[in-house]
Amino acid sequence: MIKKSINSEVVKAARWQVSTAPHQLPLFASSSFSFDSAEQGIDIFTGKQFGHVYSRYGNPTIDAVAQKIADLETHHMAEKGFGLLCSSGMAAISTLLYSLCESNDSVLTQANLYGGTTELFHKVLRKHGIQPIFTNLKDIDGVEACLKSQPSIKVIYAETPTNPTLDCIDIRKLAALSKSYDKYLVVDNTFCTPIIQRPLELGADFVVHSTTKFLNGHGNSIAGSIVSHRHELKSQIWQCLKLMGATCNVWDAWLLDNGMRTLALRMRQHSDNAMALATFLEQQTGKVKKVNYCGLPSHRDHTLAASQMSSYGGMLSFELDTDLRGTIRFINALQFCTHAPTLGDVDTLVLHPATSSHLNIDASIRADIGVTDSLVRVSVGIEDIEDIKNDIFQALDKV
Ligand SMILES: *Cc1c(COP(=O)(O)O)cnc(C)c1O
Repeated sequence: MIKKSINSEVVKAARWQVSTAPHQLPLFASSSFSFDSAEQGIDIFTGKQFGHVYSRYGNPTIDAVAQKIADLETHHMAEKGFGLLCSSGMAAISTLLYSLCESNDSVLTQANLYGGTTELFHKVLRKHGIQPIFTNLKDIDGVEACLKSQPSIKVIYAETPTNPTLDCIDIRKLAALSKSYDKYLVVDNTFCTPIIQRPLELGADFVVHSTTKFLNGHGNSIAGSIVSHRHELKSQIWQCLKLMGATCNVWDAWLLDNGMRTLALRMRQHSDNAMALATFLEQQTGKVKKVNYCGLPSHRDHTLAASQMSSYGGMLSFELDTDLRGTIRFINALQFCTHAPTLGDVDTLVLHPATSSHLNIDASIRADIGVTDSLVRVSVGIEDIEDIKNDIFQALDKV
């Protein structure tokens, strides 16, 4: 060892050793990884040997969490999937679409997507020659007609259940069509998580998530994931992720894993509470006009939901029997539920789509997709259901 001064000694990172494996996921907060020798560096760079290089390309913490989500999404499949973790749900969606599509390709999708995804199509992808074609993905014959007449379609992009009316799209039928026309089917599975719905097992090619929502569950990290079993496409997608720099950061990946450990318990409680709240709301005749929850036998897509979801999740929406001002009075009267523009946290969150997520959408288009002035969306939390019901009950009185 050559001798060094105290001033130099302090510059080096503390030396660490593991003799036994840590029981919890370590946080590898390191932008790069050092090589034992010049030869090892060459082998890793040329792909002869696996090794981490630079955290934008991959990192042990991030890779572990990405693979955990992939394992959940392909739990019952013979072939394991691969996972990639991105800096947000939007980063996952844009990375995947950029890597699958070229200019002059089209993406067949639905009007009632997550708002950010709709904006991504209109304001970003379009500029690069990737055209969205909006149709009703529930209308399978209509989807087939589009596939027949528009050969530029490369990807079918679906979200089910949809936000905020909880309509369901038949993943098996879309997957069958997508296969026979040689397209890729991508499903945004944010609302369900793999505990409730596993699109790859139903025939989809890709699943994307905003892990910011139910997967993390605690509202303290932003990240997104891409999962697939189309291994032949992995390096193409990974290249795009790495070169666009859409990589997740280690801390958010770690928080996501920590949150996911209670995912099964949380999803059970979200579903039970949402079912109880939906049933309660349906009984509030005179105050509540309509309840959208795909777990209710009265919901238009209940049978389909039952065939592709193992429970019905924590999201619901309902229409108050009042106007815009009455709806605003309802929101302001809530004392226990929080008014916030996210979903999937452990606590109950309420949102008024007409004055938030759907504010810039024309009233007539909003009406078409069921987002009326009196529609309220609830991300039902895991608290005691009585406290949620009591708060909503007293607020209904203030309408
Ligand atoms: C929130 C959300 C997104 C975007 O995710 P971010 O993590 O906010 O980038 C995409 N799809 C759905 C269904 C969402 O709810």
